[in-house]
Amino acid sequence: MALKVFISGKFYDKDDAKISVFDHGLLYGDGVFEGIRSYAGKVFRMRQHLDRLWDSAKAIWLTIPMTKEEMAAAIEETLRLNGIEDGYIRVVVTRGAGTLGLDPNRCSDPRVIIITDHISLYPKELYEKGLELITVSTIRNHPAALSPRIKSLNYLNNILAKIEGLQAGCIEALMLNHKGEVAECTGDNIFLVRRGDLLTPPKEAGILEGITREAVIELAGESGITVREIPLTKHDVYIADECFLTGTAAEIVPVVKVDSRPIQDGTPGPITRDLMARFHRLTRNHCT
Ligand code: PMP
Repeated sequence: MALKVFISGKFYDKDDAKISVFDHGLLYGDGVFEGIRSYAGKVFRMRQHLDRLWDSAKAIWLTIPMTKEEMAAAIEETLRLNGIEDGYIRVVVTRGAGTLGLDPNRCSDPRVIIITDHISLYPKELYEKGLELITVSTIRNHPAALSPRIKSLNYLNNILAKIEGLQAGCIEALMLNHKGEVAECTGDNIFLVRRGDLLTPPKEAGILEGITREAVIELAGESGITVREIPLTKHDVYIADECFLTGTAAEIVPVVKVDSRPIQDGTPGPITRDLMARFHRLTRNHCT
C-alpha cells in the first residue's frame, strides 16, 4: 500500500502528494516545520511540538489554518491510515502559492503537510560506541537576523554546517554562535557532564529549544543531577567528562570525540548511559 500524505485536509498517495512550484515554502523557504516521534502508537510530547510549531509560525507572521486540536487529530489520522506505530512524523506548514515576488500577502492559502514514515535511526553501533564531532566554521544564524528558535523551512545554515562536517567524516557537526560560544549541532542539541553536573547552552546562545533537550533536563532533575543552562565554549567541551546530543530522531547519542580530542577515555560515560536508559523507558512506557 502506498504511503498516504496529508495535504490541507486530503490524503494523497506518496507519488501524488504535490504542491505548487509557486509555493513560497519552495521559492523562499517561507514556512515552518516539526519533526515528531510516535512510540507504540502514541505521539511523544504532541502538545510541546504543536506549541513550538505555532510559536514558529507566529514569529514569521504565518497563520496556521487549523486549530492545534485539528492538527493533533490530523497527525493521529495520518499515522493510523499508514499503520505506523513507531515512526517519525514531519509536519510542514508553507506560506502557500503566491507570485514570484517575496510579498507573503500575495500567498492566500498556507499548505499543511503531514508525512509519516518508519524511522531510520543512526546505526546501533553509534549508540554503543558514540560518535565523533567536528566544530565547523559555519556559525549558527545570528539570533537577531533569523532566530534559531524558529524552526523554519530555511535550513541552509544547518545544511552548510552539515556539509562541512560530512567532508571531515563526521555525521554531526558542532556549531558555535556569533560570540564564539557553543550553540548546538546541525539537528541536535548538545549537553556536557562536568563534575557530575549537566551543562547545556541556554536558549540565549541561539539554539532551537529542543523537545528532547527539555525531556532530558526533566529526567536529570528527577535523578537529582544539577542542570545548568550556561554559555559554554569549545574549551568546556574539550575538558568535559561526558558529552551527548539530543534530538527527536537521534534521541540521546553519546559523543566520544570532538575535533580529534577524545572526551575523557573516549567511551560513553555513565551519566549519558543512565539518561539513555531512562529516556528509553520514558518514551516506550508512556508518553507524557
Ligand atoms: N537543534 C536543531 C537545529 C534541530 O533541527 C533539532 C531537531 N529538530 C534539534 C536541535 C533537536 O530538537 P528536538 O529535540 O525538538 O527534535
